[in-house]
Amino acid sequence: MAQEDVFKKIVSHCKEYGFVFPSSDIYDGLGAVYDYGQNGVELKNNIKQYWWKSMVLLHDNIVGIDAAVFMHPTVWKASGHVDAFNDPLIDNRDSKKRYRADVLIEDQIAKYEEKIEKEVAKGHKRFKEAFDEAQFRQTNGRVLEIQAKIDALHSRFAKAMEAMDLEELRQIIIDEEIACPISGTRNWTDVRQFNLMFKTEMGSTADGATSIYLRPETAQGIFVNYLNVQKTGRMKLPFGIAQIGKAFRNEIVARQFIFRMREFEQMEMQFFVKPGTEMDWFRKWKDTRMAWHQALGFGAENYRFHDHEKLAHYANAASDIEFRMPFGFKEVEGIHSRTDFDLKQHAQFSGKKIEYFDPEDNQSYTPYVIETSIGVDRMFLSIMCHSYEEEQLEGGDVRTVLHLPAALAPVKLAVLPLVKKDGLPEKAQEIVNELKFHFNCKYEEKDTIGKRYRRQDAIGTPYCITIDHDTLNDNTVTLRDRDTMEQRRVKIDELRAIIEDKVSITSLLKKI
Ligand code: ATP
Repeated sequence: MAQEDVFKKIVSHCKEYGFVFPSSDIYDGLGAVYDYGQNGVELKNNIKQYWWKSMVLLHDNIVGIDAAVFMHPTVWKASGHVDAFNDPLIDNRDSKKRYRADVLIEDQIAKYEEKIEKEVAKGHKRFKEAFDEAQFRQTNGRVLEIQAKIDALHSRFAKAMEAMDLEELRQIIIDEEIACPISGTRNWTDVRQFNLMFKTEMGSTADGATSIYLRPETAQGIFVNYLNVQKTGRMKLPFGIAQIGKAFRNEIVARQFIFRMREFEQMEMQFFVKPGTEMDWFRKWKDTRMAWHQALGFGAENYRFHDHEKLAHYANAASDIEFRMPFGFKEVEGIHSRTDFDLKQHAQFSGKKIEYFDPEDNQSYTPYVIETSIGVDRMFLSIMCHSYEEEQLEGGDVRTVLHLPAALAPVKLAVLPLVKKDGLPEKAQEIVNELKFHFNCKYEEKDTIGKRYRRQDAIGTPYCITIDHDTLNDNTVTLRDRDTMEQRRVKIDELRAIIEDKVSITSLLKKI
């Protein structure tokens, strides 16, 4: 199946099984805004717990906060967002569609890369086992020609972005003959800057009202609380502050489902360090965060680092963790060395002294900061994409199954009475009432056992138990495993011990 079709199936699966709905669905949705359903919210909460515990529980020098979405408007002047949180926009005059100029060019580079992959695939087909892919990539004339085009385009693009040269960005689009995907024409406007922050009014009267922004990142809530936390928590450098919360960006190119949303959630941790040690910490946090991702068991080959060439104005190093989505390797998390930029800016704009007194050196300085910033929704999407499978069964049947890591699955155990009579439902309820204190259990009695198993497979429930007439005599049940579909007879008394360890967040944390 083409990857595009797989992605479409995942999107409709998310809706059909109560994971993600378009916002205000009965009014036909709101662009790039989504709601999480009954299963989605459980998965999302589990992702957040996995992250929070890995930060706050496993590090005795990291604490959490929960700052407000609304912040003093000067925060965003100090942070640079009022002046520089812009995207370069371009319109197609025929379709009236608006695009991000940088995304159009990045898509063009991706098209060239796809061409190379096609050449490689052809080589595989032609030479079969004798095919030496590495050598082919280094020597094949056609591949080298395309790679040279990519390199030239990439360096021209990087220069234009670095200087935010809007005319040059437009010229690249013209020279590359990039056409609007809707109208197919190259009738482009000039490129303009567009600020991504949402603005609203605070206060009751129009006169007295103050314009404020919905935060475009959670990080600033941490920076403005640095002194509060450091003093009240008596924190010693190095230490970190973690936060999970909503962020808002008026994204222009809102597409690929929950990959790019206008309202989304971030899990950010700012780690304050002594100046001069930041590169060591940057490397350490890159490794720690990659280990967190890989503990999910999706395979190391599906992740890669992408080191930034163009750095944000505040950074001296930056790297993304990218995951292989059905639409290519995409950023899920950013790790940034933000220097002392933010704290210094807030010190300047607020007039407060924002420093750290180092008792060992007997001097005060502004700490440097390493940030790890991950989108909950993108993480959710990557997990969904990797877990979704349409499995071919013997006999030609197809089973749709979500191989979610058991610790993240919305429901851990489905409890199914074989029939709706003879005391089986009561026995099943008894088991639910016992186990529900330990993990999420779901009771289901409707439809045949086979259909109920399939419904649980589709939402990723790792275990099902069936209560039958023997259960009433010998207190045993049939335990079915989602991935292998194996069934075995176990004692009711043993259920908790068998399941709890496998489905707990703790089991996942131990793998990091
Ligand atoms: P992109 O280049 O894709 O716009 P970014 O580099 O601007 O992302 P950051 O500002 O570094 O992203 O934000 C950190 C993380 O927040 C990203 O890695 C991503 O997981 C998440 N994120 C950012 N923007 C969005 C969005 N519009 N929708 C969902 N998640 C987002």
